Amino acid sequence: MRCPLAATRSQVVFGAGDPHADLMFVGEAPGFHEDASGVPFVGQAGKLLEKLLAGIGLARTDVYIANVLKCRPPGNRDPHPEEIEACEPHLFRQIELIQPRLVATLGNFATKLLSGSATGITRVHGVEQEVTLGGNRVTLYPLFHPAAALYTPSMQKVLEADFARIPELLGTPGRAEPVLLAEPDEAVALAAPAVQLGLF
Ligand code: URA
Repeated sequence: MRCPLAATRSQVVFGAGDPHADLMFVGEAPGFHEDASGVPFVGQAGKLLEKLLAGIGLARTDVYIANVLKCRPPGNRDPHPEEIEACEPHLFRQIELIQPRLVATLGNFATKLLSGSATGITRVHGVEQEVTLGGNRVTLYPLFHPAAALYTPSMQKVLEADFARIPELLGTPGRAEPVLLAEPDEAVALAAPAVQLGLF
């Protein structure tokens, strides 16, 4: 047995979603509900993740969701370093196969593993960085873990604001109304030279 968690889990929670997704989320480890269902992020934190996704016009079927650990640590304790080491080849292989363009890490464990840095989530959340994962260049985007934000409204606000940048990072238009750069009259005046040049 490569990892002692195999003895206490109900089942492996490998990952779920669109295997061709451009956007992949990486959480920490399955909890009680994930261990029981075999699907990541189906408990309270998952409900918040779905709400945040809906806020940017996405559903969980549009993205791929996985965790650093594929098996639940007893009592939802933090992953141990040797468990992360035993399990990380699965995550790197997943990233290699899915080839996402944007990997959003949820919380400290995923962020530290995939950034290769010990800098914590409080300092790096919302700051994208280019990294090579699974042989591909991807944008890594650290976010607070939804479970941490569940009972802290201020953290939830930060998470929402960080989420709002995901469409831009994916290079897809967000749901926000397009920004009007000038009042309609000014826009006509600004366009006047173009009109004179016969561009419109
Ligand atoms: N928290 C996680 O990090 N992953 C899950 O799948 C559920 C809760």
